[in-house]
Amino acid sequence: MKIVMKFGGVSVADGEGLRRVGGIVDKFRAEGHELVVVTSAMFNVTNSLVDAASRAGRGQREHVKRFVEDIRKRHLDAAQVAVRDEEVLDRTMRAIESECEDLKNILLGISHISELTPRSKDFVIGYGERLSAPILQGVLEDLGMSSESLTGGEAGIVTDDHFGGAEPLMNVTTLEVRQAIDPLLEKGVVPVVTGFIANTQDGTHTTLGRGGSDFTASIIGAAIRADEVWVWKDVEGLMTANPRITPNALMIDRISFAEAMELAHFGAQIIHPKALESAARFQLPFRVKSLSKPDGEGTVIVKEVKVKDGNVVKAITNIDDVDLITVSGASMFGTPRLAARVLDILTDEEVDVLLISQSSSEENITLAIPKDDGSRAQNALELSLLGSKQVREVSIEAGLSIVAVVGAGMKGTPGVAARVFATMAANNINIRAIAQGSSELNISFIIKKQDAPEAIRALHDDFKLGECA
Ligand code: ASP
Ligand code: MG
Repeated sequence: MKIVMKFGGVSVADGEGLRRVGGIVDKFRAEGHELVVVTSAMFNVTNSLVDAASRAGRGQREHVKRFVEDIRKRHLDAAQVAVRDEEVLDRTMRAIESECEDLKNILLGISHISELTPRSKDFVIGYGERLSAPILQGVLEDLGMSSESLTGGEAGIVTDDHFGGAEPLMNVTTLEVRQAIDPLLEKGVVPVVTGFIANTQDGTHTTLGRGGSDFTASIIGAAIRADEVWVWKDVEGLMTANPRITPNALMIDRISFAEAMELAHFGAQIIHPKALESAARFQLPFRVKSLSKPDGEGTVIVKEVKVKDGNVVKAITNIDDVDLITVSGASMFGTPRLAARVLDILTDEEVDVLLISQSSSEENITLAIPKDDGSRAQNALELSLLGSKQVREVSIEAGLSIVAVVGAGMKGTPGVAARVFATMAANNINIRAIAQGSSELNISFIIKKQDAPEAIRALHDDFKLGECA
């Protein structure tokens, strides 16, 4: 098979992790598969680059120098643990030194003029991947493979210039990725591509948004017509519920893209939604594989999964720490128009709306948003809407969770919502708001945060998710 394998920051957190990743690649390569490896930055490196970029923007030159020294040391240490052959190690260390020198110059440049633009920020925060990829290349060479590391741009990914969340231009990208990757595969080389970063058509550096390495894997997989994309995780696969909450949660063998996207939206942040969206579009099967059980099948995400009789619900997921904002008294305005207005205001504030529910009788709109955005959202709504006679009040309630019940089998099956709410009633759990996606793939509702674990366990039992199908 032709497989794109993506390794996240946790799997390449240190030298041992990188060595283990090398072992996994070696194993599947020895089984005869053609592989392209996509790597994230080492654990937490991107966060520290974001911080360093912003400090550079505030002119903190001394911090920048210390920061680059730390990053340099962390990567050199990892290389020394992960790569054993002296010649390969020497080459790897020189690659690290050269990237760090560039990074230092860029950060010092930014701090000289104390100005960080979205464009220069994207350049800086891509250095995590620029540093991890050469180490992984070294590990693969050390294990006897021939390997080459490439940036996303060198691998042919061309994006628009929407810095911080660039979109690939798929037609050119497909052509260029094939031109870059196919000859390497033909020569038996294992390409190691940096996740997360790409270039515009004129060569400016961009990023695909935080967590974007999964997206890189989808883009490359689609371009080279891979058989599957494998995303390696420190979990077994996608689960019927969070096993820390529900100890009898089971691994899901097969799930559809649509269901996986619902899970991703409602807190199960296993795979980046954009990666799922693009894999779905190109009908590219996606597999979540376990680092600790490389031989296991993991969870495969495909276009469609047959719904077995009675198997209406596939998983229960939750988002903790949400605030509920209620905009009430919309009588003169009309709720649909008000809803549009409210969403516009929140979009301008860059607030992520997790759930909306509106009642026409009471003329109010209820929105769930992440708690960190709560008071900002409330202020923005008050400023724009109060005093116009359209809205009486914008209230906020904190300490809540969203629980979502997900499954393609719910579509057209009456009574699922009734069953969900009966289970809540039986457990004395008060529901604050309810929403159902028009896709009918989820029913989600809001309850007190402290009730969430009990609600999830009760639903997991009631829909018999802990029993093998
Ligand atoms: N390193 C990037 C980030 O932390 C991309 C990724 O990990 O997928 O956002
Ligand atoms: Mg990730």
